[in-house]
Amino acid sequence: MEYYSLNHKASKVSFKEAVIRGLAPDRGLYFPSELTALPTSFYENIEAMGNVSIAFEAIKQFVGDDIPEADLKAILADVLSFNFPLVEVEKDVMALELYHGPTLAFKDVGARFMARCLGYFNKDKSTAEPVTVLVATSGDTGGAVASGFYEVEGVDVVILYPSGKVSDIQEKQLTTLGKNITAMEVAGTFDDCQAMVKRAFLDEDFLGKRKLTSANSINVARWLPQMFYYFFAYKRLKSQGKELVFSVPSGNYGNICAGMIAQKLGLPIKHFVTGTNANDIVPNYLKTCAYDLKQSVATIST
Ligand SMILES: *Cc1c(COP(=O)(O)O)cnc(C)c1O
Repeated sequence: MEYYSLNHKASKVSFKEAVIRGLAPDRGLYFPSELTALPTSFYENIEAMGNVSIAFEAIKQFVGDDIPEADLKAILADVLSFNFPLVEVEKDVMALELYHGPTLAFKDVGARFMARCLGYFNKDKSTAEPVTVLVATSGDTGGAVASGFYEVEGVDVVILYPSGKVSDIQEKQLTTLGKNITAMEVAGTFDDCQAMVKRAFLDEDFLGKRKLTSANSINVARWLPQMFYYFFAYKRLKSQGKELVFSVPSGNYGNICAGMIAQKLGLPIKHFVTGTNANDIVPNYLKTCAYDLKQSVATIST
């Protein structure tokens, strides 16, 4: 599988290179160059399949030959070692609980998958260069990334978080692991942290010295695995024979984008609904086609 840059000015790369780079040299996001629907036999048998087998079938075309099948299955078994309960809220309305991972954030699956892929690519220490993962967080991402990358060899993690703007538990998740995880408290907002990360990625002098990658959801190994959730939900609901609508709380729209990829792979999703908080840059863009950046504001949602 090849990945192209959405800015169309960089060459195509393999999964491995897309994961290690994070962002293309032309600053574009990497996106899979083709999407092949899964065979109907997959959808016919899905109720008899375990989560790891479902995830393997869904992700294997995106990984290609860069990780052999047996290793990819082992990575997925490790990543998906917790439950994804589907709980009835009221008749015909279900909640897919995605907070049963180690840091209680739905980002655990993506962070753990990316960490294990990078760890796999670094296994051969004679050729591998140490990678530094640089990430800005408003709370959830940093915790999931710190936990997911903890003790992964050949990978150092540096997390920037805004002082006083993450919860006490989140601050402890970021700052108490140690070893290959370094957290830096920034006197500023999340946007200031994000700007520092972006500046580091543009600093040619720095990049020559240190291999940098991002664990924000611009990384294909972070956001693509989120498509598993949609397959897991379908497996549980298929026998009811009803049309499926997903409602996805969104920030960067990584999770819902993964759901739309699942739909392209043939998962029968009728419709998506997305909710956002006051930081509504994306919905405004979809409405007006004008990408108006504005300062983010804190809300009661994490
Ligand atoms: C990260 C996060 C979101 C936003 O997810 P995106 O994939 O960026 O759209 C929404 N809600 C919670 C609780 C989150 O942690």
